[in-house]
Amino acid sequence: MFKKILVANRGEIALRIQRACSELGIKAVMVYSEADRDAKYIKLAEEAVCIGPAASALSYLNMPAIISAAEVTDAEAIHPGYGFLSENADFAERVERSGFQFIGPTPESIRIMGDKVAAKQTMIKAGVPCVPGSEGELPDDPVQIKYIAKSIGYPIIIKAAGGGGGRGMRVVHTEAALINAVAMTKSEAGSAFGNPAVYMEKYLQNPRHVEIQILADKYKNAVYLGERDCSMQRRHQKVIEEAPAPGIPRKIIERVGERCVAACKKIGYRGAGTFEFLYEDGEFYFIEMNTRVQVEHPVTELTTGVDIVKTQIMVAAGEKLPFTQRQVQIRGHAIECRLNAEDAYKCIPSPGRITLWHPPGGPGVRVDSHIYTNYYVPPYYDSMIGKLITHGDTREQALARMRTALGETVVEGINTNLPLHRELMVDAQFMTGGTNIHYLEGWLVNHAR
Ligand code: ADP
Repeated sequence: MFKKILVANRGEIALRIQRACSELGIKAVMVYSEADRDAKYIKLAEEAVCIGPAASALSYLNMPAIISAAEVTDAEAIHPGYGFLSENADFAERVERSGFQFIGPTPESIRIMGDKVAAKQTMIKAGVPCVPGSEGELPDDPVQIKYIAKSIGYPIIIKAAGGGGGRGMRVVHTEAALINAVAMTKSEAGSAFGNPAVYMEKYLQNPRHVEIQILADKYKNAVYLGERDCSMQRRHQKVIEEAPAPGIPRKIIERVGERCVAACKKIGYRGAGTFEFLYEDGEFYFIEMNTRVQVEHPVTELTTGVDIVKTQIMVAAGEKLPFTQRQVQIRGHAIECRLNAEDAYKCIPSPGRITLWHPPGGPGVRVDSHIYTNYYVPPYYDSMIGKLITHGDTREQALARMRTALGETVVEGINTNLPLHRELMVDAQFMTGGTNIHYLEGWLVNHAR
């Protein structure tokens, strides 16, 4: 096992990894930008290294600074968390070339999954169900493009091969709009992602977002840890996640889970990963794979009892997965509410000083957050300041616990989306379960104030 790991991230996920290291008896070296100097997890760290000024490009995305921090502290491995450099194949390669273990998949796996056309082709070969679409990158010939669209059937969606973060996509309803839409997406993709390649998919009208968590070791052992429903989204950003996905028969989950595991074995995937799917009318359609730990991993941890972050570290150190698929049992239900420093309904960021933080507690309540009373939320990074997660024997119990937890939570000094979560937890449709990816946007329009 490693003796020392460098945590190349900030905020709640940096603290989450620090906690996992502590439990494993590993020293965690924390890094920070000048804006995060006062964070409690930095103050409490055995070792911490400043890697640059506030701007991410100069600190959390600064590869030489991070690698030299690992060198001067004698760390053996680097955990990238999520966001920042976590899905950057060049970074993973530089980490390994500098003699450190990257806690994640191989640079090749990251590279393939980062190209959505290559990822989809890999999945089709591995037998994972995908959204019907073009076989690969779209050709230049307008006649051929029209032919492909017609055979898929409108509406279709044009997507950038190098896209991410919900950008680089355009929905097309008619042939008249097609060629222009392809040209615009191509030119945007070229400037935003440095790769003008685009592809085409059938546009699913009312899907849910359901994803499968997997874990794999270096010896081609892989398991799936059930699914998460992340359909409650705003501008393609997840707001609430839960496990299991309400109302989806276990048989269907098992079938798709087994396909994901087979795909991992086929491509020699190692570490944690998530297969993201759209789910409509009883069918799963792969959209992309995330090659890192996800924000919403706690709902899976609470329903399976598996510590995903610890397991990531163990398999990176060369250990075998400590359990088999048969030992993975889903127990009860878990829900996560992302706590954001923002206006609850208009979603405008609200950085600043937190004058009072009173976290909830009690049975089945987990709080993953780095904030504290008098903490200053810097304006430079993502607005998420923590996650409230509840677990119960049933979905109803998890919901009841979340309502209690949200009622106890106090954040003063800045705006947060707590009021939004409190309303959604008593919303009739959400309480029934199975809302689609457009539900929250529609809800926000109807509840505009
Ligand atoms: P990104 O990497 O930018 O997150 P994804 O491929 O994961 O891109 O898609 C992001 C979101 O876009 C999905 O969660 C879904 O809301 C929507 N989307 C993507 N592909 C389709 C599709 N074929 N039909 C309907 N919606 C889609």
